[in-house]
Amino acid sequence: MTHTPSAVELAELSSGLHRLARNLWWTWTQDAQDLFQELSPRSWQNLYHNAVAVLREVSESELRAYLMEPSTRRRVKAVLEQFDAYLKESNTWAETNAPSLSEGPVAYFSAEFGFHETLPVAAGGLGILAGDHAKAASDLGIGFIGVSLFYREGYFQQAIDQNNWQTEYYAWLDPKNLPIEPVLTSSGEPLKCSVRLGMSTVFFQAWRVNVGRCPVYFLDPHLPENEEHYQRLATRVYGGDATTRIMQEILLGVGGVRLLRALGLQPSVFHMNEGHAAFLILELIRERLAAGESFEAAAAAARSECVFTTHTPVEAGHDRFSGDLISYVAHKFQDQLGLSHEQLMGLGRVNPTDPNEPFCMTVLALKGSRAANGVSELHGQVSREMWQPLFPGRKVEDVPIGSITNGVHLPGWMKGTARRFWYGKYSEWAQDNVAAAAAAPHVRSADFWERLVNSQEFWTRMADPAVVSDEEIWSLRYKLRRQLVEFARRRLLIQGRRISQRDFIEFDQLLNVDALTIGFARRFATYKRAPLVFEHFENIVRLTRDAARPVQFIFAGKAHPRDDAGKRYIQKIIHLSQHSDLKGRLVFIENYDIHIARQMTSGCDIWLNNPRRPLEASGTSGMKTTTGGCLNLSILDGWWREGWNGVNGFAIGEDSHPAEVAEQDRIDTENLYRALTEQVVPCFFNRDAAGIPRQWIKRIRSALSTLAPQFTTWRMVQEYVGKYYLTGKGP
Ligand SMILES: *Cc1c(COP(=O)(O)O)cnc(C)c1O
Repeated sequence: MTHTPSAVELAELSSGLHRLARNLWWTWTQDAQDLFQELSPRSWQNLYHNAVAVLREVSESELRAYLMEPSTRRRVKAVLEQFDAYLKESNTWAETNAPSLSEGPVAYFSAEFGFHETLPVAAGGLGILAGDHAKAASDLGIGFIGVSLFYREGYFQQAIDQNNWQTEYYAWLDPKNLPIEPVLTSSGEPLKCSVRLGMSTVFFQAWRVNVGRCPVYFLDPHLPENEEHYQRLATRVYGGDATTRIMQEILLGVGGVRLLRALGLQPSVFHMNEGHAAFLILELIRERLAAGESFEAAAAAARSECVFTTHTPVEAGHDRFSGDLISYVAHKFQDQLGLSHEQLMGLGRVNPTDPNEPFCMTVLALKGSRAANGVSELHGQVSREMWQPLFPGRKVEDVPIGSITNGVHLPGWMKGTARRFWYGKYSEWAQDNVAAAAAAPHVRSADFWERLVNSQEFWTRMADPAVVSDEEIWSLRYKLRRQLVEFARRRLLIQGRRISQRDFIEFDQLLNVDALTIGFARRFATYKRAPLVFEHFENIVRLTRDAARPVQFIFAGKAHPRDDAGKRYIQKIIHLSQHSDLKGRLVFIENYDIHIARQMTSGCDIWLNNPRRPLEASGTSGMKTTTGGCLNLSILDGWWREGWNGVNGFAIGEDSHPAEVAEQDRIDTENLYRALTEQVVPCFFNRDAAGIPRQWIKRIRSALSTLAPQFTTWRMVQEYVGKYYLTGKGP
């Protein structure tokens, strides 16, 4: 029986697809993603997986013709039904565990959010974490609103010049091609608010990013009514000098609160993801002063609404502003708060009366929040030591900074191949175990898949050899490794536009699909020590050239535009990849981003992380690896110190570190090389008659059952709710 669709039906499905493209839910839902990809496979690739842009490529008549095929229509309908059911699902975790947050939501302020490669406005792990936090809040049904800035040029794109030196370039982002929508007033005009910066009133509008059930607002001062330099204020993430930074931070903190009020929102909690947004505390105080409260009462009330997460022990990660800059930019605000300059400065100083101390955003955040936390146990401890001077008379262990270990949004980080694999294995299991599968509590919920992959039961089951065999896991490993190798070859070919013709031919021989593939990709901050493994250069060359047990390396990452030391690390690694005996066994993929991260964390066999302990705070890229069967080889810093159980990956060194940096570098170099040659390589190449490394796969099973369900933003957000959002006090 065929059915001819009515014009109304076609129009509904077409508008449904447009609606879907503007909700990031599709980015973590395989069937939805497949629809956009099929519509125009070529544009899908050229437009870098941008569903909004793909739909703009396709005319309305083409879209309707596409929908005339009954099987396509059925699939589009099914996805749209699933989407609407997800949006409407009332039986969520928060419905039972945090119903009050739907009345008074969490307002989560972050200078950056990383959701997907089509919205390239995150600089690194902090933004990715914020994006994953929002996605999990949506899945869990939490009353959650994100606030950030709309950076018209996003974070920089990386190119490498003839001297292998990183250069930065910027693309102007066009809202029409992005999954964002303007926030409008009831009369359909852009909603506008303002903040005071120096002598000027600066206006801004806002864009809404739909993250499943949760909105995230991007503030945007690119308006004709602003002076030219204020229009460009939020052009780049962390761009410009200290003046730009402080103005961006006032826009974020103060402007963010004003936007929420203009939208009629009364959050019960303001969560500052890092100190950049801490000026929101001053705006909350100002609001109460304007309503007639005393400064003390207003400050106490503001404090009772705020929580703060600190993300790094690295000094440069804590913004500090001079007294002159504070007076210049915030004098009007200071008047409204009824404070003298010294009083205002005191809010951002460890010692309020020290005239030489600059204004520190972290200090303001710590003073102005009812609770604060670091992002792993060790980082919590390090932060308590670091900020002990703010709490004179308290012992380090009594400093009120707790910890919640970071996570990742698993459904979003799984590559299509892995999603389909696990879904297939689950379906097979469910067919054989009808009663048990039907008894699962989430089986009929709209967010069935999200609940499934975030559950301990699921990964315990999938790690069971009776459910998924060694052969199947090994086959998945090969598939993912080949996909990464082919991805790397494609990328290197494009990067190689500068290289000679002869080299082009070599790209198809670049990298080896059978080799133990070691990945390293993250920001090239120097404490992360990207080139550490090459300290043992001759030995590493030998490892890569062992025909029976070959090893290869894939690197990627951006250095901060002003970090020449980080750029030298990039230069060194690219140089080695082109002009040393590592050629063909080491590659550097340019322009690291979320897409490259997803390819690498799923395709590699080993995810290498060798930061200078304890500077990593948490780290999250290693958490993305487990569902693809990649194992971590890492210093026991941040999350890995908690995740490692002796068999679910590999540790470099001990749960301790020498105080001396040079000594630490030396010891870690030795330990890294030893772990690699004594444990990793032998384990990977210890094959049985069928060619399968049974011990290696045992480790993958352990990683699946112990890491996958544990280091997720589902677990993390639930902890934030229990420890900080609902209780009103710290641990
Ligand atoms: C996950 C991720 C990070 C964070 O990596 P770490 O190793 O935790 O520093 C940075 N950038 C991108 C693009 C990521 O996906």
